Amino acid sequence: MGQRGLGEEFRDELDALVESLAANLTDVIRRTDERLALQPNAEQVLQNFKEPLPLEGCGAQVAIDRLIELNETAGGNTAGPKAFHFVIGGSTPAALAADLLATAYDAITYTWVLSPAGVEMEMQALDWLKEIFELPKEWSGVMVTGATMANFVCLAAGRQWWGEQHGLDVSETGLSSVPQMPVLTSGFIHASTLKVLAVQGVGRGNIQRFEKDDFGRLDLKAFAAGLEALNGEPALVIVNAGEVNAGEFDPVKEMIELSRQHNCWVHVDGAFGLFAKVSPRTAHFVEGIEKADSATVDGHKWLNVPYDSGYAFVRDYGLMARAFRYSADYLPEENSARPTFGAIGPESSRRARSFAVWATLKAYGRRGQRRLVEHCLDIAVYFAERVRATEHLELMNDPKLNIVAFRYNPGGMSDEQLDELNENLGARVIADGRFLVGTSKIGARTIFRSAFSNWRTRQEDVDEFAAVILELGQT
Ligand SMILES: *Cc1c(COP(=O)(O)O)cnc(C)c1O
Repeated sequence: MGQRGLGEEFRDELDALVESLAANLTDVIRRTDERLALQPNAEQVLQNFKEPLPLEGCGAQVAIDRLIELNETAGGNTAGPKAFHFVIGGSTPAALAADLLATAYDAITYTWVLSPAGVEMEMQALDWLKEIFELPKEWSGVMVTGATMANFVCLAAGRQWWGEQHGLDVSETGLSSVPQMPVLTSGFIHASTLKVLAVQGVGRGNIQRFEKDDFGRLDLKAFAAGLEALNGEPALVIVNAGEVNAGEFDPVKEMIELSRQHNCWVHVDGAFGLFAKVSPRTAHFVEGIEKADSATVDGHKWLNVPYDSGYAFVRDYGLMARAFRYSADYLPEENSARPTFGAIGPESSRRARSFAVWATLKAYGRRGQRRLVEHCLDIAVYFAERVRATEHLELMNDPKLNIVAFRYNPGGMSDEQLDELNENLGARVIADGRFLVGTSKIGARTIFRSAFSNWRTRQEDVDEFAAVILELGQT
């Protein structure tokens, strides 16, 4: 018998592995509700995790068994119903299955020829998303890893526009011969946008924030004066639709309309806030977005597709193509009818995020997405009521969307003492592991911010959440 090659070995191993993999996946998915939000002993478990690179490996089955053991004892359960930190979405059944298939197919959607189906699904899904958010059909779009990269795309297109206003192609010439790019926004600007502006040569420190209070709400009058002071110079405006601490909005419509009277590129960061558009209960918060130039939406938040998935929408396709120009003799010619997504966005090779997005929209449609959003709105309303009605819990925002801010308040303490108490309690809640939730600030005050964006979360989960806060607060 001749020596068996790697190909034969791997094929045999995979044949054996798929059976246990199917069983493991079934088990992992079925226990999503039950697993703790956080494993309280993660640090101990991982203490001796590091080891030298093995010369001979242990084989797939042993490695995979170990991986599952590690995740069960030291992983997070962000897919589960009790993860209210950040803005964490779940995965719909269709999205989860489609995303697993994207990996099984190892599909790459850089350009049409590599995955005609995947690229067509991306175009279709982006069109459907535009329909859901009521963005103009003519806008272009691209799928990226999340809202940070969607902001990166939109602001790169904006920067390209701004350079062209100065008669320059900044993707070719760089920024050394142009003045500082003015960027106007409110205090609600997201940390990821600052990161983007930092790496795009604008500088975090060069952003003009017009805020009227220490929470960061827009001072519309000062903003209007800021626009006037531009004296016709081109500038970028960033509108924040969905602020992360309390789920508030800049006055989207007024801000866009005012900006339109000046020579501005208007970008809307609606990572989760754009989903307000999906329900008549909240659509008014994002009225007027169709008059902007670009918009960011996250998929792994409120669309409930698996990580990582976000979408950049840009009015002018040409600006994306010029900002992200990517050509070589062996690469396809760029055209908007059949876009090479790798040439209008930051990633060249890219996984088929389109599978999950297309599948969830196909499976549940416009109505399903509305039900998902309204389910979370209902949970937020229910939980806010619960907080109001519970002694020792104090509601700290007037929830407009899916974020409820509150604090533990046993009475008889100053605000400063309560800040400290809630910070300490926040650490105890994390250590406890039953719920994943973070503290933050609204103005000077420390709050728990709970964001509801997963179809899995039930009323009983948030009842238990309130009970756990009280229980740990008393210890
Ligand atoms: C979450 C969020 C981001 C960053 O999104 P990622 O998906 O983590 O990259 C940007 N802006 C807003 C408003 C967000 O809520």
